[in-house]
Amino acid sequence: MKSDIIVIGGGASGLMAAYRAARTLVDGGSDAQVTVLEKMPRPARKVMITGKGRCNFTNVKEWNEFSGHVRSNPNFIKSAFYNLPSQAMVDFVESFGTRTVVERGDRAFPASYHASDIVDTLVNACHSVGVK
Ligand SMILES: Cc1cc2nc3c(=O)[nH]c(=O)nc-3n(C[C@H](O)[C@H](O)[C@H](O)COP(=O)(O)OP(=O)(O)OC[C@H]3O[C@@H](n4cnc5c(N)ncnc54)[C@H](O)[C@@H]3O)c2cc1C
Repeated sequence: MKSDIIVIGGGASGLMAAYRAARTLVDGGSDAQVTVLEKMPRPARKVMITGKGRCNFTNVKEWNEFSGHVRSNPNFIKSAFYNLPSQAMVDFVESFGTRTVVERGDRAFPASYHASDIVDTLVNACHSVGVK
């Protein structure tokens, strides 16, 4: 197998990293290949149990309020938060046809309350930009 970029592990992080890498390549006119290697039969199995099977995939609080809930060193994640703000994450999920709802505590879920919809969204996002 030949690939230009290999992401090891098809969890939430690996799928998002693969999508972002491939999106950047496609937008730049490159035909370089991104491949995710996942050891389990299905990707993102841990996402399936998040939020008691409903997947609380983000929280739409602003940084000043959100950071107060991070127990240690919130600044460590500050740049990541601003690179993919919560609303951008909601927009990303919805752009692949998955409706979302925001509940008590500003927690965002798929409107179906099925975590599998978030897994499907991540996988569809990867496929949309040619990730293998
Ligand atoms: C009970 C529970 C509830 C949670 N609820 C929420 C929630 O509601 N909202 C939220 O945002 N987060 C929640 N989390 C946290 C969230 O699940 C994790 O932060 C997230 O899934 C981590 O994703 P990851 O891709 O970093 O790691 P992982 O999901 O662990 O992904 C790593 C992947 O790499 C694969 N892998 C490992 N080694 C290899 C190898 N050598 N070769 C190939 N593949 C390999 C694994 O099989 C796995 O698929 C919850 C976690 C738990 C346990």
